[in-house]
Amino acid sequence: MRIVITGGAGFLGTHLSAKMLSLGHEVLCLDNLLTGRRQNIEALEKNPNFKFADQDVSKPIQIEGAVDAVAHLASPASPPDYLRFPIQTLKVGALGTHNALGLAKAKGARFLLASTSEVYGDPLVNPQPESYWGNVNPIGPRGVYDEAKRFAEALAIAYYRQHALDVRVVRIFNTYGPWMRASDGRVISNFVTQALSGKDITIYGDGSQTRSFCYVSDTVEGITRLLLFDSSSSGSSETGLAEGIHQPVNMGNPREDKVIDIARLVLKMTGSPSKIKFLPLPTDDPKVRCPDISRARKLLGWEPQVSLEEGLAKTIVFFRQA
Ligand code: UDP
Repeated sequence: MRIVITGGAGFLGTHLSAKMLSLGHEVLCLDNLLTGRRQNIEALEKNPNFKFADQDVSKPIQIEGAVDAVAHLASPASPPDYLRFPIQTLKVGALGTHNALGLAKAKGARFLLASTSEVYGDPLVNPQPESYWGNVNPIGPRGVYDEAKRFAEALAIAYYRQHALDVRVVRIFNTYGPWMRASDGRVISNFVTQALSGKDITIYGDGSQTRSFCYVSDTVEGITRLLLFDSSSSGSSETGLAEGIHQPVNMGNPREDKVIDIARLVLKMTGSPSKIKFLPLPTDDPKVRCPDISRARKLLGWEPQVSLEEGLAKTIVFFRQA
């Protein structure tokens, strides 16, 4: 397959590009390097099946030749990033998604949207099944990301309904691992880099809020299964799987931890002398988050394989060497 990956030089985009290359596919990576990094894809650029183009997908996209699939991952994804780039975040979720959908439609390609657990906002239901509509503050600071992704889902599903575009939507829960930027600002990269440098571990609020952390190889395996799922040969009218493939699919690890327990685990695993420092909780920070992954299990036979301890150990090695 010839696959366009928007945001292909970002954290998840780099891993997804590598995975697609390893399966023998061709990858066209589009990234404006706002939060992605050319150094992430240095090794991939040696592969003749990989091409990079410096492209802001909020502007029209022109691609020569056939395209079989478009995976639209482009967006700032860390809260400090999308708070720094609020308008770019809204634009890439709206205009970028429109352009990426237009590309898929023009080429007769399959389309995968990287959506997010943030569509559930500060959830009043825990764990969150895909049928939960969420609790989002549209004008709060996080609204720029949450509403951009909610609009992106609405637009993608409209293309499915109106143009019969082969659309898939993955709602990605907190993912961590190698190739995150040390300065990314998300909790695992912050805690690990703070612990390794002996700086204070910054807990926002009292640390009782929960998250569910999925190691990147598990997330990317799930995205790959959803992207490559062949709905024409699934024998699906009986199982309903072909219809299910166009529904949003949660992808995350159902193990739920308090942020303070993550801090303690990182301290223990790094043997760090760092102290814990409590800072104010950001506005609208969700109090709980945990995926119900029944749909991914049934549809894709997918569930996470890497334990938090294993994944953290690999992430610590990466940041030690970075
Ligand atoms: N967090 C924290 N310290 C940090 C970074 C984040 O306590 O240095 C908290 C944050 O307030 C949130 C959780 O960790 O409750 C996860 O934050 P992250 O930015 O990784 O992603 P989110 O799940 O909020 O999108």
